[in-house]
Amino acid sequence: MSEKEGTISALMTEDRRYAPAAEFTSHANWSDPEVYQRALGDPEGFWSEMARAIDWFEDWDTVLEWDPPTTKWFLGARVNVSYNCVDRHLKTWRKNKAAIIWEGEPGDTRVLTYQELYREVNRCAAAMRRLGVQKGDRVALYLGMVPELPIAMLACARLGAPHTVVFGGFSPESLRDRIVDCHAKLLVTADGAWRRGKVVDLKGNADRALEGCPSIENVLVVNRVAPPEQASMVEGRDRWWHDEMDASGTDTVEPESLDSEHPLYILYTSGTTGKPKGLLHTTGGYLVGVHTTAKYVFDLKDEDTYWCAADVGWVTGHSYIVYGPLSNGASSIMYEGAPDYPGKNRFWQIIEKYRANILYTAPTAIRAFMKWGAEHPAGHDLSSLRLLGTVGEPINPEAWVWYRDNIGSGRTPVVDTWWQTETGMTLITPLPGMTVLKPGSATFPFPGVEADIVDEAGESVPLGGGGYLVLKRPWPAMARTIWGDAERWYDQYWSQFPGIYFTGDGAKRDEDGYFWLLGRVDDVLNVAGHRIGTMEVESALVSHPSVAEAAVIGINHEIKGQAIGAFVTLRGDQAASPELITELKLHVGEKIGPIARPDTLIPTGELPKTRSGKIMRRLLRDVAEGRVVGDTTTLQDPGVLDAIKDKYEETE
Ligand code: ATP
Ligand code: MG
Repeated sequence: MSEKEGTISALMTEDRRYAPAAEFTSHANWSDPEVYQRALGDPEGFWSEMARAIDWFEDWDTVLEWDPPTTKWFLGARVNVSYNCVDRHLKTWRKNKAAIIWEGEPGDTRVLTYQELYREVNRCAAAMRRLGVQKGDRVALYLGMVPELPIAMLACARLGAPHTVVFGGFSPESLRDRIVDCHAKLLVTADGAWRRGKVVDLKGNADRALEGCPSIENVLVVNRVAPPEQASMVEGRDRWWHDEMDASGTDTVEPESLDSEHPLYILYTSGTTGKPKGLLHTTGGYLVGVHTTAKYVFDLKDEDTYWCAADVGWVTGHSYIVYGPLSNGASSIMYEGAPDYPGKNRFWQIIEKYRANILYTAPTAIRAFMKWGAEHPAGHDLSSLRLLGTVGEPINPEAWVWYRDNIGSGRTPVVDTWWQTETGMTLITPLPGMTVLKPGSATFPFPGVEADIVDEAGESVPLGGGGYLVLKRPWPAMARTIWGDAERWYDQYWSQFPGIYFTGDGAKRDEDGYFWLLGRVDDVLNVAGHRIGTMEVESALVSHPSVAEAAVIGINHEIKGQAIGAFVTLRGDQAASPELITELKLHVGEKIGPIARPDTLIPTGELPKTRSGKIMRRLLRDVAEGRVVGDTTTLQDPGVLDAIKDKYEETE
């Protein structure tokens, strides 16, 4: 996949540049690029220096033990994540600082100071302990975005009982699969969750899931949506969260002094590519990784009101709503509901209301905001924002610039952060006080992280070329294995290139060394011998004023190898005339080259997305190639696919 073989580098011709403002740099947590050199020269020294920001009960003897695919960090050290996120702040002025600023979808609010969070976490840990949860036991958490979720996570961390958070949008089957896979002993759920003004029946789903989960002994139920007497509780198994918290009174639970490599959590990936994998994250290294990146990537300060708008059910929420910000003593907003409820301006209302300074969200959300129109943010005072971030998918330059102009008042840095459930922390990202930004590029590896782009033989591809994104050196927050499946851990990530972690993503690097993510390797197109990222064609489509969102796939083609199929969602109330379709095809031709012109272009109301909001190109390929559509359990709205299928058959 090198330049020589005919890579078209549409993305890399993006020529807009955004240097950090002097004002920002002068106050930035890091502004001297020397940190890159320092980390490169002595990565272990660099990470142990970063580790000094954590409170350890006992120091490590060895920083790193690396025998791929096995990695251990801070060996011999003893530490507790809950202690670092809560207890240690009580000895400082942060004791009465807001830790979690929670906004419910119906408009109710709750603010927990660090002291209050400490109380809640202790009461929850005491309740879990009474229910028989011990160090090493797994606890499943199936909740909406309510404060009880981080409280339960921190209680688990306190006890050394690894949690597995299952996103509240998942079905009973998905919940059951995950509980069965990790043999969870306790389930924490709620009577329901608010989503777009309706109740998601978490308890009903949990009851169905538990029909096949013999490992679960008890269920703790948070009362969120209706009077408690309306819930159906199973005698002897289900207990109300509030009753158990009351029973805990003022009990405290000493944070367990845990080995640095003690399991902290298991998290199943979002499932874009197939069966979800339970990635295991451990304690010391993970904490160092998320603490450091939260502080320097978001330039997090004590004065900031920080908002990561992801769901705690995904790794982004684990690392950058809970563990990263709280270990830094930050004030973090947590919002329960949908971005368009009750109106399409809900996010901007929240930012204005709390004077949020930092916003971290996903390209799919940004493209939805673009589609809804700039009038929504324009109606609110967003001047408190000083930094924006994005994660989850490649962001096309148009969306990046729109985000900066319309949300960041054309003033804020935008950090495009590349990482995965497996990596635990951001690995490729700008440092906002020093990186000159190029829209659409995640820029450079974080200090102490060694990323490279290699060809099929594992040889590093020279600047200007593209290939497979790999990591050549371990980083502290990396997953240690797939729970219960060491073989898959090896096969999936370590078997392609010996001793090197393979991300599964394709990327290019320009002459200045900037990384441009192309999405999954399986999504890269091969048209008449040319390698084109689906991302590049999508970007070209979205740069047309009529297009809000696009998904591009390769369709097997006898002559060309692959033909290009495009599915587009139009902005606002645009009509999909045949003229517009032709115009869009030509537009791609102009932006990238005639070879990249889509053969088929189908306007569609919505695109099939995972529950985390990512486009599922795999399913679109199934539709286009006339196959039975594969596993759709992770789809947010399976109906979308039927509509596309009908449209597709009409067009063919
Ligand atoms: P599965 O592994 O089960 O198929 P998934 O890969 O979607 O699901 P995540 O771990 O949530 O699950 O997502 C990580 C992936 O998201 C990355 O491998 C990459 O493809 C994409 N990604 C995340 N952030 C970025 C970014 N800033 N730029 C480009 N791609 C990104
Ligand atoms: Mg993945």
